[in-house]
Amino acid sequence: MSEPRTYEVRTYGCQMNVHDSERLTGLLEDAGYVAAPDDLQADVVVFNTCAVRENADNKLYGNLGHLASVKEKHPGMQIAVGGCLAQKDRTTITDKAPWVDVVFGTHNIGSLPVLLERARSLEEAQVEILESLDVFPSTLPTKRESAYAAWVSISVGCNNTCTFCIVPALRGAEKDRRPGDILAEIEALVAEGVTEVTLLGQNVNTYGVEFGDKLAFGKLLRACGEIAGLERVRFTSPHPSSFTDDVIAAMAETPNVMPQLHMPLQSGSDKVLRDMRRSYRQERFLGIIDRVREAMPYAAITTDIIVGFPGETEEDFQATLDVVRKARFANAFTFQYSKRPGTPAADLPDQVDPAVVTDRYLRLAALVKEVALAENQTFEGRSVELMVSEGEGRKDADTLRLSGRAPDNRLVHFTPVDAAGTRVEVRPGDVVTVTVTHAAPHHLVADSPVLSVRRTRAGDAWEARTTTKAAGVSLGLPTVGVPAPLADAPACG
Ligand code: SF4
Repeated sequence: MSEPRTYEVRTYGCQMNVHDSERLTGLLEDAGYVAAPDDLQADVVVFNTCAVRENADNKLYGNLGHLASVKEKHPGMQIAVGGCLAQKDRTTITDKAPWVDVVFGTHNIGSLPVLLERARSLEEAQVEILESLDVFPSTLPTKRESAYAAWVSISVGCNNTCTFCIVPALRGAEKDRRPGDILAEIEALVAEGVTEVTLLGQNVNTYGVEFGDKLAFGKLLRACGEIAGLERVRFTSPHPSSFTDDVIAAMAETPNVMPQLHMPLQSGSDKVLRDMRRSYRQERFLGIIDRVREAMPYAAITTDIIVGFPGETEEDFQATLDVVRKARFANAFTFQYSKRPGTPAADLPDQVDPAVVTDRYLRLAALVKEVALAENQTFEGRSVELMVSEGEGRKDADTLRLSGRAPDNRLVHFTPVDAAGTRVEVRPGDVVTVTVTHAAPHHLVADSPVLSVRRTRAGDAWEARTTTKAAGVSLGLPTVGVPAPLADAPACG
């Protein structure tokens, strides 16, 4: 029997892409491929691309250029390009990089194995881009990256038309998944040991629009609260325009829905919001935050902000700074506006001078840091319950610490020793209680003894997976990280 072909998936962009890559991995493994060991060239390299970032196309063609010579030395090697950039550029990819074997779009990721096979047998590139969703991606096989936390897609696409965003053009109109299917997937995940899920949609607050239930998202959160063994529920991203109070009530009244909200602001200026075609205004945004804080006093609120949108004046920018101060964000992803080809804003007059954009960006970043630090300092001396995570503390090996996430998703690095100074054994997915000793803008430190350890089914699942992996059975984990914490990656909405 011949050796199975190996694969590598390279992922760029948002959580949606990270989750799609879990499906690509699952599909490839179902078709008999195995993950390439780290030190060996894969037979199939799949790029899951993002069109949102500036210069995304230059970077992709640079990477493809590098692979051309690698491919020459590896007969039979195949290169596939999928994701948003593929949906946008289509045949341009094979025109510019004729050594690419397969191009597939955001609507037909399920076709990848067939397209690879067809490209091999016909010895010619296969480009297949669909204009609308083929099958809801959740019905495809999935190879989950983490044993203890999982993404669960509730909708794809977006019905909004924010002028800076390419997503509606590339991902299409919103399509909602049936609540029963979502809950069945979560139950199956919990049965496998997962204790945390993040519900994923471009705009979770409009979930249900397709089947005519405006209250569907709040109901879904409450239904998650009924699932035994599910300890933490998060979601991304809500949209301030469609955020309703029943969702705040559902969050506050459902114990396993975490006190955390990542709600994109984008700008604090009503004029800029209007130009962005985002239909809420500053007052509404701050009103939602007030009501969330009233219902959940310790909720951590994070956001996305764009500076330098066309026509943004110093006064508009000051309005953004004002919201950052009032909202007391635990963190904010800040972006310098750049023209994204294919978006309406790319053609707007009054593009802001790049030097001004950079200056505002630096001032905003400094304020965000100051506010985040002040918020984090309120945690010093407080006890928090952490779910131990994997791969989140870059310096953990040097500091002998481990890392975990608090209920509100704050990242905490802790020293795993008990009161007697003995190292406590904990695994990713287990739960510990620690006392915060030090605050930094983007994390907390707990160097006092661990107060308690709870071994969980999630920790068992992590251990079972790690043991199997160590025994030499390839689990085909893709080359992307564990589900990114909400506060570490930009989201839409
Ligand atoms: S920014 Fe978010 S809400 Fe706006 S169009 Fe893009 S995906 Fe939709």
